[in-house]
Amino acid sequence: MEDGLIIVVGAGIGGLATAVGLHKVGFPVKVLEKSSDLREEGASINIAVNGWRAMDALGVSDILRKQFCRIERYVAMRDSGAILKTLCIDDCANGPHENRGCIRNELVKALASALPKDTIKFGCSVETVDISDEGCKVTLASGETMACKVLVGADGSYSKVKAALGGPAAEYAGWASYRAMACFEDGIPNFKPDFNLMYGGQQGGIAGYYPLDTHRCYYFLGFQASQEEADELKKANQEGKKADLARRVKNFPKHLKEAVAGTPQDEIFINHIGDRVVEPGETWGRKLSTLIGDAAHPTTPALGQGGCMALEDGVELAAALRDAAQTAAVPWAQVPAADIERTLRDFERRRSTRCAPLVAEARENGRRITARHSWLGLFMRDFFIKRYTMEPASQFKHTLWYPASLEMPVEA
Ligand SMILES: Cc1cc2nc3c(=O)[nH]c(=O)nc-3n(C[C@H](O)[C@H](O)[C@H](O)COP(=O)(O)OP(=O)(O)OC[C@H]3O[C@@H](n4cnc5c(N)ncnc54)[C@H](O)[C@@H]3O)c2cc1C
Repeated sequence: MEDGLIIVVGAGIGGLATAVGLHKVGFPVKVLEKSSDLREEGASINIAVNGWRAMDALGVSDILRKQFCRIERYVAMRDSGAILKTLCIDDCANGPHENRGCIRNELVKALASALPKDTIKFGCSVETVDISDEGCKVTLASGETMACKVLVGADGSYSKVKAALGGPAAEYAGWASYRAMACFEDGIPNFKPDFNLMYGGQQGGIAGYYPLDTHRCYYFLGFQASQEEADELKKANQEGKKADLARRVKNFPKHLKEAVAGTPQDEIFINHIGDRVVEPGETWGRKLSTLIGDAAHPTTPALGQGGCMALEDGVELAAALRDAAQTAAVPWAQVPAADIERTLRDFERRRSTRCAPLVAEARENGRRITARHSWLGLFMRDFFIKRYTMEPASQFKHTLWYPASLEMPVEA
């Protein structure tokens, strides 16, 4: 084992952010990823200002800013297209704010490009985890074992590292989401840097649509579905998925239907949405192991914060371990296990306190925005949207987060 090696399981947004952070503070890190390459699934996600701040700290944001446009307005409308409310992002409290859609694959590529070659080992599915006083050990599907000083589980909502550590796993939240990207060769018709939220009628559901740049737009549709129905849709071939999506958006505005019609079949993804309740101050690791991202605090996407929280985790974990080494005044490989254990539990307590309200709000939002309605219920919902949602004072309150610097002092 390389002296002081930190193994991160999973090369998703959180795992790569953690690896970049650890590399920036000079710690040896390897990322084990079960896929044979950076995973392409996932269309796009919206990154809010806290995610951009995390990526600034990691030094990877500029390349992404050049690719994706800034969203300037939120527009809430009915499925008929009738506008319920608009919000200008520059009017919101605690600004300036920055919201951009990012193609997930471009995001993980930007993070991976900040790591030295061979940091990520692909085709390494971690099957079992052994955590003892002496350190951590993982066994891969190939039978190979690898030992490390610290183990970070960044292997997503259905994490094997989490399963080994115990505690409640993610549960299906009762809804599923299609997401996709449409490309317009001649540019998006009537291009506007708006995040359109389209609320379904009595059948419920919510659709979103926003540009990534002048030629590509991302859209999604969240809808209630039993676990069995969602499983069936996931198993359907791409043609079946596209036909089902087209059927579900038939009452939505024309531009969404056109986007669906123009989307290549293999650009349509479906996800089961799951989460788990996080208690403020809880811990989730054991000895010299911890979890980050969806492995630690899976959330519904109804606040658009799962990826942003994973980016925050990466920066905070790297800063916390760097500070532990500085406090111990020894090189990282010599930091006593007791100091690291304390640092990891403090990290988890801080992160659970930060993430718990976001996970709870995303759960409540998800339940509300996908709900089916009577006619009276629709009237009440629209009144609620107009009166209480998208308020400049509170719209982005959950994005209030500032990273520690990961820059290391230059030696004289
Ligand atoms: C429909 C939808 C919309 C979303 N929209 C947004 C949004 O707008 N904004 C936002 O911030 N977030 C959004 N999210 C959430 C965001 O995508 C996740 O929170 C984020 O991807 C979590 O990153 P992660 O690194 O923790 O996990 P993941 O991205 O799931 O990565 C886990 C990695 O671990 C690997 N892995 C798994 N098991 C193993 C194993 N045993 N061994 C080795 N490797 C393993 C996987 O292959 C994967 O590469 C959305 C999510 C969904 C489902």
